[in-house]
Amino acid sequence: MTRLQRVAVLGSTGSIGESTLDVIARHPERLRVFALSAHSRMERLAEQACASSAPVVVVPDRAARQRFIDAWPAGRTPPEIRVGAQALADTAADTQCDTVMAAIVGAAGLPAALAAAQAGKRVLLANKEALVAAGGLFMRAVREHGAELLPIDSEHNAIFQCLPRGDRAHVPSEPARGVRRLLLTASGGPFRRVDPVDLHDVTPAQACAHPNWTMGRKISVDSATMLNKGLEVIEAHWLFAMPADRIEVLIHPQSVVHSLVEYEDGSVLAQLGQPDMRTPISYGLGFPERISSGVGPLDLARCGKLEFETPNMERFPCLQLAFDALRAGQAACVTLNAANEVAVEAFLAGRLRYTWIPRVITAALEWQQRQSSVTLDSLADVLALDAAARRYAGNLGLA
Ligand code: NAD
Ligand code: MG
Repeated sequence: MTRLQRVAVLGSTGSIGESTLDVIARHPERLRVFALSAHSRMERLAEQACASSAPVVVVPDRAARQRFIDAWPAGRTPPEIRVGAQALADTAADTQCDTVMAAIVGAAGLPAALAAAQAGKRVLLANKEALVAAGGLFMRAVREHGAELLPIDSEHNAIFQCLPRGDRAHVPSEPARGVRRLLLTASGGPFRRVDPVDLHDVTPAQACAHPNWTMGRKISVDSATMLNKGLEVIEAHWLFAMPADRIEVLIHPQSVVHSLVEYEDGSVLAQLGQPDMRTPISYGLGFPERISSGVGPLDLARCGKLEFETPNMERFPCLQLAFDALRAGQAACVTLNAANEVAVEAFLAGRLRYTWIPRVITAALEWQQRQSSVTLDSLADVLALDAAARRYAGNLGLA
């Protein structure tokens, strides 16, 4: 008989959070919600907690706590309401939970994701920014505390599925034997064919209109600039212990082949499927078994053509910046991510032009290079650099 897994969904009101709850609801015999967390939209959080009978919810502050209580239906016993960032990390490490879905957006999700790893949980990692900001620290915590790490980002989940494996999600300290390269696919986003001169006046709505995936607004903008793929290159480096020069990005507009692994003998294994995050999410929740996700069959004949092309780094400067940051080291990666978060937030708020996103990141990386070198051995070190990089990017008069 399968053991019941109690799951904490961090960032439950987001796109990944909603898809995770959809999969959990399909498997009441093996999956149960232990806790849900959200930063805003307390009404939605209350609906989710009601529907999933979550025993615990985590909200950011007392005002949010009150909004949650106001939204709670009369006559039903409310869940335990925990408040604040420390409560979030404590919940991720709670002995009453087995699995943590890390689906908060941005480096804000790092402390709780790290706490889950340090508590030896099964960590389903969607929050790629956590790994970009603190890859070394995070992977060490996973190893030292016997946590299980399952990548949820569709490309990394695809690669994980195509690598040789046993029944446990081992964290490698060197590239898997016989593997030559990892090939990450990217849709190219909504502006793949747009003339670069026309990008100047792009609106948030245009940038968020992804051709194949429905996602949160931040990752949608990142997909348009392809900084998302850059973050994923850094993520793949940490997850699979792969050097930057053995990770390649391929534009594949149809988003059917989710990524590929090339072996020394010339074999290339790929994972295919519909662009629906419930596939990688259910893979993570069910691992090592396969469980249903609600995703229908892939009709390849209807897809017709699968195309691939090499990305043009001049069109997508953010992708080049991420490769450069990975080669430069951890401090550059923290800075890249922080500056991007500030720039994307400013763009979404109408305060920054789309074409300035790479400029803000470039300026922040140059600022970081001028600083004396810092050690990044602890969460506090990483958060201090993250905050300084945000201040710098914000002070550019753009945010
Ligand atoms: P989203 O914006 O839809 O949801 C984000 C969630 O995080 C919400 O529940 C929000 O309340 C919470 N949150 C936001 N800021 C917070 C903060 N400061 N503290 C605590 N909680 C906070 O985002 P998403 O699209 O679901 O993406 C979540 C993560 O998954 C991101 O790291 C993204 O890169 C990654 N990811 C998403 C997809 C996708 O298809 N959406 C695919 C691959 C990876
Ligand atoms: Mg992805």
